[in-house]
Amino acid sequence: MTTSDHIESDVVIVGSGMGGATTAYALAKKGVNVLVLERGERIPKEDQNWSPKAVFVEKRYKPDEIWLDKDNNEYGPGLHYVVGGNTKVYGASLPRFKEADFGVIQHEEGVSPAWPFTYKDLEPYYYQAEVLYKVHGTKGDDPMGPVREKEFPYPAMPHEPYVADLAERLKKAGVRPYANAMGVDLATDGKCIRCKTCDGFVCKVDAKSDAEINALNPAIATGKVKLMTGAKVEKVVLTPDGKSVDHLLVETKDGVVKVFGKKFVLSAGGVNSAVILLKSGVANSSDMVGRNFMMHNNAHIAAFDIRRKNDITFQKTMSFADWYYDGGKGYPFGVVQLIGKVQGIMAKSWATKVPLPLLNFVMNRSVEFVVMAEDLPSKDNRVTVDAQGRIKVTRNSIGMKTHAKFMKKTEAVLRKAGYQAIFVQPFDISMNSHQCGTTVAGNDPRTSVVDQYCKTHDVNNLWLIDAGFMPSSAAMNPALTIAAQALRIVEESDLATFA
Ligand SMILES: Cc1cc2nc3c(=O)[nH]c(=O)nc-3n(C[C@H](O)[C@H](O)[C@H](O)COP(=O)(O)OP(=O)(O)OC[C@H]3O[C@@H](n4cnc5c(N)ncnc54)[C@H](O)[C@@H]3O)c2cc1C
Repeated sequence: MTTSDHIESDVVIVGSGMGGATTAYALAKKGVNVLVLERGERIPKEDQNWSPKAVFVEKRYKPDEIWLDKDNNEYGPGLHYVVGGNTKVYGASLPRFKEADFGVIQHEEGVSPAWPFTYKDLEPYYYQAEVLYKVHGTKGDDPMGPVREKEFPYPAMPHEPYVADLAERLKKAGVRPYANAMGVDLATDGKCIRCKTCDGFVCKVDAKSDAEINALNPAIATGKVKLMTGAKVEKVVLTPDGKSVDHLLVETKDGVVKVFGKKFVLSAGGVNSAVILLKSGVANSSDMVGRNFMMHNNAHIAAFDIRRKNDITFQKTMSFADWYYDGGKGYPFGVVQLIGKVQGIMAKSWATKVPLPLLNFVMNRSVEFVVMAEDLPSKDNRVTVDAQGRIKVTRNSIGMKTHAKFMKKTEAVLRKAGYQAIFVQPFDISMNSHQCGTTVAGNDPRTSVVDQYCKTHDVNNLWLIDAGFMPSSAAMNPALTIAAQALRIVEESDLATFA
């Protein structure tokens, strides 16, 4: 690899988030030379990492980029173009999908399609990903599964008194709470200090398991992986026969450079990998690139109890998923998961008209959850790029009738558990952090973009390893599944082999 205008490597990876960094890590372990191209920079260690005002109100780590919704309204996407990608600010909730998520599931409002591989195929790699991302949990705790061969690599994070008490109240209200699978460095010599600023924030002490700290940096330390920041990939250019990638066109501060490689991996995130392919006219013989956009049907709930102060530090330690397979009428609902403690100033970023003292009063007496349900794929929910290069995401979410019932049932349980008021913040299109499905995996090249190992059907040296491959969104946080699939691809496909 050189640093002149002719740059090349054995494998060139675009994006350093969950998919890209985990792939780089696994390739480095196999001795493969890798160049990671990342449009963003490393986030500096600074006081603003932990400032609710800087992160939530001033949106310090979000790009200025504007996307369009289905009606051409402008919005800022919930994404982060930095080394480590969205994992730098994610909540580190790292559950596995459940066995049934890999098969066909009949929902009230449609069908969740099968994946081209099974839970059993991914199970060993789930464990490897849990080791890499230091996942804490308790085997068998979640009554809805999934079956796992081994114990979690680390024991579950203990609940603080408020959540321990909440768990008891929820049990009495009729549900079975379990410990969240969390990726944090809590081991005896661990760096986690259990602060209030984890979910949604950048970890200033490198204790949150993210793609930069847990995968990319160790990969670079092997000497096999190089990182080029400020490198935005604009186009994939094919060889004259159209069968292979020849090079990438990359915008840098020194102008556009060509990057050559033997094999290429796009891991730019669900939407951005699709955008690069659409702009290049590549890997799209199925016309599926950009289609099947999903992001979960989500809402935040703040459950308020005027009698009970919530003085918690680390709130995100518990979920319940009793209605994951059946919400009562034979159709799946999803998971209810605690989120990081919402502070008054954070709520101000969306409850803009409510005075801060009132928000503080409420938030000091509330506990917050995300109510997460699967949204179903549709060809009409899609990413497109207009003539000016603007990104448009057309989405009519499927499953909202079910989500409304799920919300009602959740609210009833929370009231039974002692809460007098429930405040709801539904997710809009800008809260697209769980985006997936845009370069779907499948066995049939007519209906999918990549095969079960995320290799494109159309181009023989191009892989797409990020959230885009998911044929369905399940109702679980996506990041561990992306990481496990990256490890599986490097082990089982020909990405790491060179003649
Ligand atoms: C606030 C928040 C909380 C979340 N909480 C959780 C959670 O608790 N659990 C969970 O499982 N998931 C969570 N997620 C989602 C999770 O972060 C994503 O699912 C995951 O990071 C997706 O991985 P990826 O590889 O597809 O993309 P990303 O991790 O987003 O990585 C994409 C990378 O590609 C780079 N890139 C994009 N375009 C280009 C280009 N043209 N050229 C070069 N580089 C490019 C980006 O800068 C980025 O670094 C959360 C996300 C957010 C925003």
